[in-house]
Amino acid sequence: MPSFRVARIRGISIEIHPSWLFILGVLAFSLSDGVFPDEYPGWSTAMYWAVGIVSAVLLFVAVLVHELAHAVVAQRRGLEVPKITLFIFGGVSHIARQPRSAGEEFAIAVAGPLTSLVIAALAGGAHLAFHDRNEQAGAIGAYLATVNLLLAIFNILPGFPLDGGRVLRSIAWRRTKSFRRATRIAGTVGELFGYTLMMGGVAFLLAGYAWNGLWFMFIGWFLSGAARGEKEALQLEAVLSRLRARDVMRTTYPTITPGVSIEEVVERHMVGEGERAAVVALDEAVVGILSVSDVRRVPREAWANTPAQRAMTPRDRVLTVQAETPALEVLHQLGANRLNQVPVLEGGRMVGMITRRELLERVELAESLERRPD
Ligand SMILES: [Zn+2]
Repeated sequence: MPSFRVARIRGISIEIHPSWLFILGVLAFSLSDGVFPDEYPGWSTAMYWAVGIVSAVLLFVAVLVHELAHAVVAQRRGLEVPKITLFIFGGVSHIARQPRSAGEEFAIAVAGPLTSLVIAALAGGAHLAFHDRNEQAGAIGAYLATVNLLLAIFNILPGFPLDGGRVLRSIAWRRTKSFRRATRIAGTVGELFGYTLMMGGVAFLLAGYAWNGLWFMFIGWFLSGAARGEKEALQLEAVLSRLRARDVMRTTYPTITPGVSIEEVVERHMVGEGERAAVVALDEAVVGILSVSDVRRVPREAWANTPAQRAMTPRDRVLTVQAETPALEVLHQLGANRLNQVPVLEGGRMVGMITRRELLERVELAESLERRPD
């Protein structure tokens, strides 16, 4: 499910994932139907719902402000923040680059929980100021003080990439002077933390608290996966950062003439040789690329009578990379454009082709050769 944009603040696209709307609804319901009626008897149903919805929406705003705090600190330090996504577990600030120093990472990471603490204090103050005069305003204040305090505490736990995990990494980074080692340390601690939460969830389940148990298991599973993902991304970067497009491209690839039928290309090159794309060339000049996805758009019956030229992606619409482009950048481009292959150019001429599958196979191979006990 894709996220959708709701606002733009300081150049940052604020996006909401549908799962957040779901949790917002669940939250508003549990507040209006359970929490507030239990704690504050005697209001009308409409009042419970009004207070429940306002509280849920204000919590939404508080989570957004938490993320904006990370984003603003990152921006002040010259890091780009293209977007903030709000989803079922809260928010994520997408920062374009890894922090450059331990101090930078520390500052960005602590900004969020500190902001949540400040919001908790303000809400607690509002509760004290209003609860005598207006029970509803007092209730909203007490609720926001509690959840923001919990939010600050949850975020400072050593899960990675939670804020606490990032703080941990920045400390390990300063100690070890190595970003890679620090990430491995924070990632491993985060993974263990995730497993611990999952075991806690099992304990809850066995003790008869089904909802809490499932929720702990879900969060633990998510956090252990996220921590593992961070470690893997770092491995990928470590392997690919040394390579350029020229090092990972292949120089032999199927070449076809524009008039050849799709049927023939499928039989000879795709099914026959396992290729996912063929270069369409006329007198040595590349005119386009015919890929598996191009072929899929043509009905099966028409394959025999459709020339490659009519189904191919023409040259001016084909994404290309230069021979000197870093391999990591090539992988990002393939991912961002949902492509399986990209031609490599040098001086305007096609000199090779990189396929996503082969690129990832290289990474796996390099990793399996480099892996040693540590
Ligand atoms: Zn945060």
